[in-house]
Amino acid sequence: MSIEVRCIDNRWCPIVNCDGCGQIIDDGGNGAFWMSLDPGDSALYFTHYGRCLDLLKAQLEKLHSTDPDPHGVFGWQSLDVLMYQFLENVHITPDKAAADFMARLIS
Ligand SMILES: [Zn+2]
Repeated sequence: MSIEVRCIDNRWCPIVNCDGCGQIIDDGGNGAFWMSLDPGDSALYFTHYGRCLDLLKAQLEKLHSTDPDPHGVFGWQSLDVLMYQFLENVHITPDKAAADFMARLIS
């Protein structure tokens, strides 16, 4: 499961697991997300950069090897882009999200 909830430092919080190696992606600068470019497919995958990203790319290309353009079936971006896109889709600015999070930590 790519996204799950775990208790870390006595706080329950969502974490992202790498679909390549299964380890937690704990550095947003070392993570990517993959999404299907087919409007009928909502698949979302997460990987570390490097070996994990190469491994998942090869698996997805093999899975879609019969598609007319197996290289164009999935696209990927940096994990931090996903966070900004998610915030934008729920109409929350990064500054407001950070302020609300810090306020909850203090209370
Ligand atoms: Zn990994």
